[in-house]
Amino acid sequence: LKYSEEQAKRKELYNQIQETKGNIRVFCRCRPLSKEEISARYATVVDFNAAKDGDLAILTGGSTKRSFKFDRVYTPKDNQVDVFADASPVVISVLDGYNVCIFAYGQTGTGKTFTMEGTEQNRGVNYRTLEQLFEVAKERRESFKYDISVSVLEVYNEQIRDLLATSSSSSKKLEIKQSSEGFHHVPGIVEAMVDNTEEVWNVLQLGSNARAVGSNNVNEHSSRSHCMLCIMVKAKNLMSGECTNSKLWLVDLAGSERLAKTDVQGERLKEAQNINRSLSALGDVIFALATKTSHVPYRNSKLTHLLQDSLGGDSKTLMFVQISPSEKDLSETLSSLNFATRVRGVELGPAKKQI
Ligand code: ADP
Repeated sequence: LKYSEEQAKRKELYNQIQETKGNIRVFCRCRPLSKEEISARYATVVDFNAAKDGDLAILTGGSTKRSFKFDRVYTPKDNQVDVFADASPVVISVLDGYNVCIFAYGQTGTGKTFTMEGTEQNRGVNYRTLEQLFEVAKERRESFKYDISVSVLEVYNEQIRDLLATSSSSSKKLEIKQSSEGFHHVPGIVEAMVDNTEEVWNVLQLGSNARAVGSNNVNEHSSRSHCMLCIMVKAKNLMSGECTNSKLWLVDLAGSERLAKTDVQGERLKEAQNINRSLSALGDVIFALATKTSHVPYRNSKLTHLLQDSLGGDSKTLMFVQISPSEKDLSETLSSLNFATRVRGVELGPAKKQI
């Protein structure tokens, strides 16, 4: 497709979504029942009858149901390609100078990492995003020059760790600073320049492997930290010479589950309090933006402080709320869906310039 045709198509697609919503969209994704859940004969509490229209019903016991509405609902049958197809227009807007934030929220074990990172055979949003950016950049190469770089960070107990740092530089304490133009960044972190998908896969693997270093249980550690991929785009319009800088955050959040009664002290309590604080801060920022409060509390957590440029104003936000279909997770499922419903009920900033 020629650039102008492609732009017209995107604009049409985007406006269709824009008509019903402002700058925030919420997609709900339900994972399949696991082998263990099937053998333990757990029932499914999710009714997908109207999933195509974004409706979802949760069977809360007996004949009672609770209904929810999202921009999209993915059933366990929807694959990574289906999911990315809907995220794609939002992703591409980073090439047009928008800041974007995509995050996966939910209880541990509901598929946040599967959606964002995916597996080698079933690559997720992170990889597909970069692949798509390279493809569109190539189509536009006569009109624009794009420089794309990536950083991979982890936030654990309110400490930022650079997952692309070599061991000698990784002990530095990382802080968030504001540039003279008002952008937020972390001085000293690795920004890896990438220009093809193979490089991207290697960089993402490097980040993913570094998450495991220094923790005795990899899965537990990653469920208690936020994994944040930042894609920075410098765009130069070759006709006018105009340059823009924008960034896209892709965030695999820490598990949103409440603390088990057996874990009320020690390290686990501290971790849980930090997770709680940052997820609440994320909710508070979104609600403050929605109600157009003059003070938006970005600085209440490292998570929201890092995301500051990509939440609010004319930036675009996409949330995946991940759920389990199993009756054993019902109360966490309802709590995630309630959080997501509150997020979806708001509009972040005025709908600004169209792409
Ligand atoms: P989380 O990051 O929320 O803790 P994971 O992404 O680790 O959850 O998913 C838990 C398990 O469920 C993994 O084994 C993952 O491969 C599987 N899984 C999650 N979502 C899906 C899906 N949509 N289709 C198939 N398997 C999935």
